[in-house]
Amino acid sequence: MEFTVSTDDRLDVVDVTDRVVGAVPENADTGTLTVFVEHTTAGVVINEAEPRLLDDVRAFLDGLVPDEGWNHDRIDDNADSHLRALLLGPSTTVPVVDGSLALGRWQSVLVIDCDGPRERTVRVGYTNASTER
Ligand code: ZN
Repeated sequence: MEFTVSTDDRLDVVDVTDRVVGAVPENADTGTLTVFVEHTTAGVVINEAEPRLLDDVRAFLDGLVPDEGWNHDRIDDNADSHLRALLLGPSTTVPVVDGSLALGRWQSVLVIDCDGPRERTVRVGYTNASTER
């Protein structure tokens, strides 16, 4: 299945944990859930969705990559967005145990848009462990 995320800022973090939990199939047993963003300037990670930490994440990514001076800027002026996104990666995997996501107490699934505001598409797929044997 898939869902869309609307972002509000150029660099924005959206907690999608509830939507990912809702994407676990009813017949899920034990396996993995893959969460994937189909974009080159956004990423998905697992971390704590504490508001001040999310401010820190934005400041960290902003400071880590200079905004200007990249070759790709001659094409569409968003090299900094691509470079921030490649540090994050386009997917993450969460274990599913007895039909439930096995996230830790403080873990949330976060979509990080590095070139917003935009609509982002998030794909979620369940793989049953028994089919992998
Ligand atoms: Zn680009």
